[in-house]
Amino acid sequence: MRRIGGARLYRIGRNVAWVLLPFFVATATSAASVVPAAAADTAEIHYDITVRINPGARTIEGRSVITAKTSEELTLVLGRRFEVMHGRVDATSLGPSAITGKMRAWRIPGDKQMPRRIEVHWRGELSALDTSLDHPQTLGRNEPASSDAGTFLPDSSGWYPYIAEKLASYHVSIELPGGQRGIVAGRLVEESETDEGYRAHFEFPAPTGGIDLMAGPYKVETSTMRGAGGKTIQLRTYFHPQIADLASAYLSSVKGYIELYESWIGAYPFTEFSVVSSPTPTGFGMPTLTYLGIEVLRLPFIRSTSLGHEVLHNWWGNGVYPDYAQGNWSEGLTTFMADYAYKERESPEAAREMRRGWLRDFAALSPGQDAPLTTFTSRTHGATQIVGYNKAAMTFLMLRDLLGRETFDQALQAFWREQRFRIASWADLRGAFQTVSKQDLNSFFDQWLTRAGAPVVRIAEAKRTKSDSGYRVNVTLEQAAPEYRLRVPVAIRTGEGEEMRTLDLEHGRQTFTLDVRALPLEVILDPDLRLFRRLMPDEAPPILRQIMVDRAAVTILLPESGEVRGTAETLAGKLQNRALKLVPATDSLPSAPALVIGLEEQVDAWLARHQLPRRPEIVRDKGSAQAWTVSRSDGMTLAVVSAREAASLAALIRPLPHYGRQSYVIFDGAKAIGRGAWPTRVQAVKLD
Ligand SMILES: [Zn+2]
Repeated sequence: MRRIGGARLYRIGRNVAWVLLPFFVATATSAASVVPAAAADTAEIHYDITVRINPGARTIEGRSVITAKTSEELTLVLGRRFEVMHGRVDATSLGPSAITGKMRAWRIPGDKQMPRRIEVHWRGELSALDTSLDHPQTLGRNEPASSDAGTFLPDSSGWYPYIAEKLASYHVSIELPGGQRGIVAGRLVEESETDEGYRAHFEFPAPTGGIDLMAGPYKVETSTMRGAGGKTIQLRTYFHPQIADLASAYLSSVKGYIELYESWIGAYPFTEFSVVSSPTPTGFGMPTLTYLGIEVLRLPFIRSTSLGHEVLHNWWGNGVYPDYAQGNWSEGLTTFMADYAYKERESPEAAREMRRGWLRDFAALSPGQDAPLTTFTSRTHGATQIVGYNKAAMTFLMLRDLLGRETFDQALQAFWREQRFRIASWADLRGAFQTVSKQDLNSFFDQWLTRAGAPVVRIAEAKRTKSDSGYRVNVTLEQAAPEYRLRVPVAIRTGEGEEMRTLDLEHGRQTFTLDVRALPLEVILDPDLRLFRRLMPDEAPPILRQIMVDRAAVTILLPESGEVRGTAETLAGKLQNRALKLVPATDSLPSAPALVIGLEEQVDAWLARHQLPRRPEIVRDKGSAQAWTVSRSDGMTLAVVSAREAASLAALIRPLPHYGRQSYVIFDGAKAIGRGAWPTRVQAVKLD
């Protein structure tokens, strides 16, 4: 997944409260037969909500009628900040509530009499929308927030009364003052604007896990497209006036993505898709819509990358729900079919660069920092993204290399047909691929999903001999334990070009004999980087992230005192995001990865004193500050941050943490004017 401004989280799974999985596995059966078009009466729980919001006054008032077609005991929950003016369960008044954290809850005893009707009339105040928050802060707040510039009521804030641990269908009617527009996921049934204000009615007929409500002074643009089978799909942008001119470009991009994925996977499962702007730097995906910050939407590359990723989540994530307890496959598959697929369309080189980035990021993790794919639920920090998105995407690539594109795509189409609106696991995906390919894929899925880490493969030896028909190359490959069953691509460079071979490596050490006609000169391991593996140090030169994520890394602050010392410490804290392990600058070189921060002369003197390589040519005398990595002879990585003076060091605090994927960055003030990764070297053995 593309990170925007270095910190963006795509939050799917509003529709499945995964902490409560045992229940949802049971529900999956009832959800299974459900298609959104005709599901309202099959949902066990249904909300009929009318809500009036006044963003200027930051008030909300609502009325909800909950229909529960179940006799079991239920828990009704509402945010604690709200006041219940009236509440009843059938003919009985709602009793006292119990308070836990920010929520209040009522126990509703089981009753054979069905359906039960729960009615709640509530009101309360909303928090002020704080546009200065960055994305993780916005996420962490979980507060219903409102202002004239925008309203965001996350499901998790308990802005409406809901039944805990239950999927539900809903109707939501939103009332707002004139000039404001509001939206929730689902189908816009009708809307109107009168002297009294704006009113919109939405319905979401399939059981879903929560309702997020957004509103703002939106200009709405609409476009209609014909989906697969002639179905009408409404595309809309809800944009703030300052970006209204971007609407038509976004609408046409969304149309293109829906067409792409309809032909690749199957019909778009909903009746609309909207792109909604947010005054805060957010990035959320929900069924039928995506909610992205105004500044994010302005970035020119969003339409060609993240937007497609969000659209695709309507198939993977919000069309087929991942079984979180067994691992979330949807981010990896979405990354593979969106972000990575766009690179493949661009050029083979662009695709290889993306694979190289994935492997380099993985190599930058210290051992034990990653976890098996089956434990991935959603992105919480860098390491989970590297596994949950990148390793999973690469697993799909290896699977496609194994099965061929046609079989791979057919299996995905079959998976979609069978699992639409169901909760599906990695095992269901494996089942679809096995059925269509007629191959046993158990060991493939097993090794890539249930193990942490990655294979480490090297060419132990390569020899050339003469044969009757030309030449013979004996290649010995080695892999570290635990052994994987790998298809290792190997290139043999001859005087006439390069020949690709695939070697089936199953043991710790294996020798393969290859016949080659032209004189072989060199054997190269996986030159295209199609195998998920831990790159060797030469193949993965250090990047800044290594020092950022490695919990063993120490910090050396060269300024001894004063304001600049404080600045250096703040910067280190931002980069490492944990309690710093400070080592005095006067100490000998620590035998641990290290982050070194200082002013120019201090840095040069420190490097010289420890006989470390001088400031690299590519950054020397450029900009007002520089950061670069050094691979020490003992294998430890060093990240050096050097600034001309205190102010140029302070200027790095905001931007530098976003450049973890680089080996070096040059800054002029807070602006990066140069950056890059040190060149990689392939694993190759010359033949003689
Ligand atoms: Zn995603």
